[in-house]
Amino acid sequence: MSERIGVYICHCGTNIAGKVDIGTLVEHTKGLAGVRLVREYKFMCSDPGQALIQKDLEAGTIDRVVVASCSPLMHENTFRKVCERSGLNPYLFTMANIREQCSWVHLDGGLSTEKARDLISAAVHRARFLEPLEKREVSINPRTLVIGGGIAGIQTALDLADAGKPVVLVEKEPSIGGHMAQFDKTFPTLDCSACILTPRMVSVGQHANIDLLTWAEVEEVKGFVGNFTVKVRKKARYVDPQLCNGCGTCWEKCPGTRVPRKGSVHEKLSLGPTTSIYMPFMQAVPPVPVIDTETCIHFTKGKCGICKEQCERGAIDYDMKDEIVEYEVGNIVIATGHQVFDPTIIKRYGYGSVPNVLTALEFEVLNCASGSTGGRILMADGSEPKSIGIVHCVGSRDRHYHEYCSRVCCMYALKYAHLIKEKTNAEVYDFYIDMRCFGKGYEEFYDRLLGEDVRFIRGKVAEVTEVPERSAEEGKLIVSVEDTLLGLVRRVPVDMVVLCTALEAHDTLPAVAKMCSVSIGRDGFIIEKHPKLGPVATATDGVFVCGTSQGAKDIPDTVAQASAVSAAVLSMITREKIEIESATAEIDEERCSGCRICNNLCPYLAIEYDDEKGVSRINEALCKGCGTCVAACPSNAITAKHFSNRQILAEIEGILSVS
Ligand SMILES: Cc1cc2nc3c(=O)[nH]c(=O)nc-3n(C[C@H](O)[C@H](O)[C@H](O)COP(=O)(O)OP(=O)(O)OC[C@H]3O[C@@H](n4cnc5c(N)ncnc54)[C@H](O)[C@@H]3O)c2cc1C
Ligand code: SF4
Ligand code: SF4
Repeated sequence: MSERIGVYICHCGTNIAGKVDIGTLVEHTKGLAGVRLVREYKFMCSDPGQALIQKDLEAGTIDRVVVASCSPLMHENTFRKVCERSGLNPYLFTMANIREQCSWVHLDGGLSTEKARDLISAAVHRARFLEPLEKREVSINPRTLVIGGGIAGIQTALDLADAGKPVVLVEKEPSIGGHMAQFDKTFPTLDCSACILTPRMVSVGQHANIDLLTWAEVEEVKGFVGNFTVKVRKKARYVDPQLCNGCGTCWEKCPGTRVPRKGSVHEKLSLGPTTSIYMPFMQAVPPVPVIDTETCIHFTKGKCGICKEQCERGAIDYDMKDEIVEYEVGNIVIATGHQVFDPTIIKRYGYGSVPNVLTALEFEVLNCASGSTGGRILMADGSEPKSIGIVHCVGSRDRHYHEYCSRVCCMYALKYAHLIKEKTNAEVYDFYIDMRCFGKGYEEFYDRLLGEDVRFIRGKVAEVTEVPERSAEEGKLIVSVEDTLLGLVRRVPVDMVVLCTALEAHDTLPAVAKMCSVSIGRDGFIIEKHPKLGPVATATDGVFVCGTSQGAKDIPDTVAQASAVSAAVLSMITREKIEIESATAEIDEERCSGCRICNNLCPYLAIEYDDEKGVSRINEALCKGCGTCVAACPSNAITAKHFSNRQILAEIEGILSVS
C-alpha cells in the first residue's frame, strides 16, 4: 500500500479561501496517514498550479495525487492529464470538492472548513486503495446520423458532408426545411426566408455525401460512441420518388381534402395544396408528394384512384409499405427542433373559439407569398383587417405553462408589425411585457419600429373577447390589458389578434432522447453536457444536440450551434479513435445468479443477458460506470472499477475518523 500521497489544496481565488481556512486544512492534512506532502496554491488548475504536481511526480516524491478544489466535472480531466504527463496512471488521482460542497454552500466559515477537512480526509483514505486502470480506445465510424431536417440539421449535414464525411439525415416530415420553410421574411434583416433556405435544402438533396431520408423516423439506436447501429422507418409515401417528377397533376385532380390547420379559424391556411395527395410546400426537398391516408378517398372508402390514373409516370403505388433500413454511424446529432405552444388551453384568449385569433405560425403562413392567400393578410371572411393586436408571451414567461422566455417572440412580433404596416392600412397594437431585443441588430430594429406608427402597449393581456361594452366595440375583438405605463385598464377593439405562442420542445423529443440515452430538463429541452463549456455535447459520448431541441433560439444562434456541432463531430472523426471511460463495472460470472435485475436498470443499456451461460454481461464500451447495477445486484456480483467497496468504505472511514 502506498504511503506517498501528495495533497494539493486550491484557494480558487477567494471562491474557496474566502470561506474556508486553508491554514487549518493544511495542518490537518499533514497528519493523515500516507500523506507525503501538502501544498496550497491560488489556482491549482493554472499552469503554475499544474506544474507543482508535475514537479513532485517527476521527482518521484509521491505516487498518488489528491486535489482539493472544485467539482470533478470541472477539472477531473485537467488533473488526470497532469498525472498522465508525469508518468502516473491517471486513476491514481482523486479529488475532494471543497468549493461546490463547502465554500459555496455553507454560510458559516467554521462549518465550511470542518466539512472541507472531512472531505480531504475521505479522499486521502480512498487514495490509498486506488488502483491503476488501463486506457481503452474505440475506433470511430466516420458516418454521422442527423435527426431532424430543420435549419439546424441542414447546416450540420452540409458542414459534415462538405468536409467529405458521410451523413444520414432523417426528417419525419415529407420535406426538410422545418419552421424556416414556413416563413416569408426573417427578422431583423427581413431577408426572404425561402431565398436563403432553398439553396441549402437543394444542396442537401443533391449532396453525394448525404443520404436524405424524409418521411422517416429513427426507431432504434444501439451501440456506443463511434459505433452506433440505428434502425430507421421509411414511412410509405405511396409515391415512388424514382418515378415522380413533381409535375403536380395528381394534386390538381385529387378530390380528397385535408385540413392542414385543424381547429384554427383559418383552417385551409397552407403553403402547399390542401388535397389528400400533397406537397407540403412548393420548394419541398425532395419534390415528391405524399398521400394523407386519413383523408384519401382510396384509403378511407376504397374508391377513387384518380391520382394513379392521372400520373403519366406511373409513380403512384397504393401498395407501398413502410420499410426499415439500418445504418452504422459513429455519432448522432439531435436536431428535432421545436413545436409551438397550443394556446387553446388559455381559454380567455379565445383561440379556436373566437374568429380571427391566430397563432404566430398561422400568421407566418398567411403572410407567406407562396401560401394560400398569396401573402395577403386577410380575415376569415376574406376582408382586410383595419386593426390588428399582437400579444406577446403567450405560454412563455408564465409559471402555469413555460417559465422560460422563448427568445424570439418579441422579435417576430416586431417583424409582423412591420409587415402589417407595409402590406395593409391597419392600425397595429403591440401588447408586450418587456421588449427583449438582445441580438445583433435587434435593438436597432425595435428603434426602427418605434418610428413606424406602431402602438406599443406595455402590459400582460388579460382577455380577448367578442362581448362589447360600448358601440365602438360592436363586431370587434376586444383586447383587455392593464397598461402598466399609464396605470390604466384598457379595452382595445381590433379586427384580428395574433398570439405570439411559446416555442416548446418537440413532442417526439422524449422518445428520441430515450433512444439516445440523453436527459431532458424541466423545461422539456435536452440537457447539454455543460451549459457554458459543453453546450452542444450531451452526457452520452457521441450524441450531440443543436438548434431548438436544446432550447428556444433564433436562426443565427441555431446555425452557429449547428456548425459548432459539426466541428465537434469532425474533431472526433478525424482522430479515428477515441478514448473511453476505463472506470466501468464488471460482473463476476461465478456470483451472478442470472436474475436479470440489472438488465433493465442500466440507463445506458450496457447489460446483456447471455442465454447460454445464464448470466448477465456488461458491454464495457457502453458502460459509464454509473454504479446503478452495482447497488441493485442482490448477489453482490458487480464491482465498479475505481469505486470498489473497499475504496468507498475507506472514504467513509476517512470522514468518521475526524468527526
Ligand atoms: C412563429 C415563429 C417565427 C419565427 N421567426 C423567426 C425569424 O424571423 N428569424 C429568426 O431568426 N428566427 C425565427 N424563429 C425561430 C426559428 O424558427 C428557429 O430558430 C429555427 O426554426 C430552429 O431550427 P431547428 O432546425 O432547430 O428547428 P425546426 O425548424 O423546428 O426543425 C426541426 C425539424 O426536425 C424535424 N423533426 C422533429 N422530430 C423529429 C424526429 N423525431 N425525427 C425526425 N425529424 C424530426 C421537424 O419535422 C423539423 O423539420 C421563429 C419561430 C417561430 C415559432
Ligand atoms: S406522383 Fe405522378 S402526378 Fe404526382 S407529382 Fe409525381 S409524377 Fe406528377
Ligand atoms: S386516391 Fe386519394 S390521393 Fe389519389 S386522387 Fe384519390 S383521394 Fe386523392
